[in-house]
Amino acid sequence: MSTIRLGHLYPDYLNIYADRGNIAVLAGRARSRGHELDVRGFSVGDPPPPPGEIDLFYVGGGQDREQALVAADLAGKADALREAVAAGAAVLAVCGGYQLLGRFYRDRAGVELPGIALLPLNTVAGERRMIGDVLLDCEWAGRTLAGFENHAGRTHLDPGAEPLGRVLAGFGNDGESGHEGCRAGRVYGTYLHGPLLPRNGWFADRVLADALAHATGEEHERPALPDELEDAAHAVAARRAQARGGRGA
Ligand code: GLN
Repeated sequence: MSTIRLGHLYPDYLNIYADRGNIAVLAGRARSRGHELDVRGFSVGDPPPPPGEIDLFYVGGGQDREQALVAADLAGKADALREAVAAGAAVLAVCGGYQLLGRFYRDRAGVELPGIALLPLNTVAGERRMIGDVLLDCEWAGRTLAGFENHAGRTHLDPGAEPLGRVLAGFGNDGESGHEGCRAGRVYGTYLHGPLLPRNGWFADRVLADALAHATGEEHERPALPDELEDAAHAVAARRAQARGGRGA
């Protein structure tokens, strides 16, 4: 039995569309495999996480207003977070949190919020919000991801950056590139809410495996879990996304 230490960044500011539900899924799946998830919150005014003490950072989504309330504090924690990631900690970031992992987020008022440059991207808000069910093809895992998006931000990945998936239905990063999210080693960013993980068990396991490898220093086998419910929820979300029509619809 291992303890996986999760650092929840800005739980009191960045938590829309039940993004907090992702932590419940991580805790449940870790427990099903005999591990414990120890959750610690880091918010505005809190000291940065001590080096080596966190295996997995999680940050949810939020409106422009909430992002503006945390951006300066997050920038102050950037060195500690970059060090932790360089030492192998994992990160899962959703929507507004994802945008702040890039170099900057320019909001609809044209205000540029600093990001922490953990991911090779930047985001600029557009007029029209991109809303609806999304389906992605994650070739790197041979799986699909299904979720829900609602964002004004258009995220532009640097040339050569790895997207999380190819958009089969929905807008994704910018409604044009055909890509959604970004992944760099054990850092994963996505626009997919829902929350994301209840209907994408395999991805929760991927993130947990990365965190466990950091916690124990070794890769672990992941015995399959009975995911009937998760797979059924995924199928429903995938059908809804496909009913929306193809990319950018
Ligand atoms: N405020 C950001 C945007 O509109 C992020 C929104 C969100 O987290 N859902 O793009």
